[in-house]
Amino acid sequence: MILDVKLTGGRFVTLDPDRPTASSVGVWGGRVVALDTDLPARRVVDLGGATVLPGFVDAHVHLAWAGRASRVPDVSGCRTVAEVLDLLRGVPRGEWLEAAGYDHRVLDRPLTARDLDAVGQRVYVQDVSGHACVVSSDVLALVGSDSDGFLAEAAQTAVRAMILPYPVTDIASDVRLGAEQCLREGIVLAAEAGVGAGLIGSSPVEIAAYQRSPLPIRVQVMVSAWELQEVAAHPADGLRRALPLGIRTGLGSEWLSIGALKLWTDGGMIARTAALTSPYTVGGVGQWQDEPARMRDVLLDGHAAGWQLAVHAIGDRAIDFALDVIEEAQAAVPRPGARHRIEHCGLVRPDQLDRIAALGVVPVVQPSFLWAYGDDYSEIMGPERAPWLYRGRSFLDRGVVVAGSSDRPVADGSPLRGIRFMVERRSRSGLAVGPDEAVSVTEALVAYTSGAAYACGVEDVLGSITPGKLADFVVLDDDPRAVPVERISDLAVLATVIGGEFRHDPAGFAG
Ligand SMILES: [Zn+2]
Repeated sequence: MILDVKLTGGRFVTLDPDRPTASSVGVWGGRVVALDTDLPARRVVDLGGATVLPGFVDAHVHLAWAGRASRVPDVSGCRTVAEVLDLLRGVPRGEWLEAAGYDHRVLDRPLTARDLDAVGQRVYVQDVSGHACVVSSDVLALVGSDSDGFLAEAAQTAVRAMILPYPVTDIASDVRLGAEQCLREGIVLAAEAGVGAGLIGSSPVEIAAYQRSPLPIRVQVMVSAWELQEVAAHPADGLRRALPLGIRTGLGSEWLSIGALKLWTDGGMIARTAALTSPYTVGGVGQWQDEPARMRDVLLDGHAAGWQLAVHAIGDRAIDFALDVIEEAQAAVPRPGARHRIEHCGLVRPDQLDRIAALGVVPVVQPSFLWAYGDDYSEIMGPERAPWLYRGRSFLDRGVVVAGSSDRPVADGSPLRGIRFMVERRSRSGLAVGPDEAVSVTEALVAYTSGAAYACGVEDVLGSITPGKLADFVVLDDDPRAVPVERISDLAVLATVIGGEFRHDPAGFAG
């Protein structure tokens, strides 16, 4: 046998407990076929002492939204309302003026509809959380709202419904932009966290955008639960609602596949809409995304139709809801391998931990929130609950598989930063957030490789450097396990290799 390519001269950290290190990796047909091999190769790439890890997997990302946010005006750098308005005034516009990056917590005061009226008509400024927006007065009139401009959850969705759909060509270029960001940061597979009806959908035909041209990385697409329709299948199939033609989790290729069925149950902490059992210190208990009875029914139907569920639940009340429904679904139709996920799983009460473990639920967490929003979240949760935020250690101690993710563009997308914050658990200002939940660097690396691959149902082909798996690697300038924790986020991604191909190669290894 002649290998397609042999990687040598690297420090190979396989993250395969049966064989943790290697001195070379042989690739044939896009897969790892041998470690420490003497086999001849058509091409030998010397990595000059760089560290090679399995390629990162981001189990929850919004590629289309990230791409769009990177090309529409971004107000996240503004510190005053006046600066926001100055920025928007200079923007060429179509029928709508769309901007991104609104965060009321960093401005001198909240932005209002009246402010935006000075900029023009049909102005839509997206909140960083994705769960809210600020719009101009004419838009408020269109949706019959008497708010001062800030619209959250269902009210925001109503405005988006007027802007949508985007053309497939635009969505495709946004997806590509988002995927290119991922590639540069060492991500080989990203799971798009929900297309179709609902909060962040872009078009009723948006999967076409992912098929338009080959993407730079592997992509898994989650489908909004509200896309399920009544089907007249044979009664023996036990189906009430399904995606037309019975399409469900698992269909597709190693490049593009259908992932889980996504349902948003509550809002988010940034917008104070994550559903809690006890009020925020600033008041309110958050809100549901929809009628709980309707959400329960669609999740039960999705489970019965063979889907993996990806239930967005940030507050502990929403997590109770998700666990109750998953338990009920499994009792009605036992599916031991269903591997249902809870997206974010942000505030987990101590009594919920054993239930998560018993139900085999995979928490898909975003440690970067701890850094970006840790100060604010700790304050709105108060001292008793702050240690329950975005847990790590408590899950691992119970044998729960934790999946690393970013929620890009809601938070920074870099897996290396996520890994650092999962270990460090400090906010931007240095505040420790639930330090008892810290995990080791290796455990954090596992979360962003095999843990996230497990959440996506692809741990048989991704997540470690093991013969038989896909030849997907990230090449770093140093070993994250050997540098001080605060330096992990500064490591350079020297290359991203997918299917044995150097797709991101600023160091020029592939020649
Ligand atoms: Zn998300």
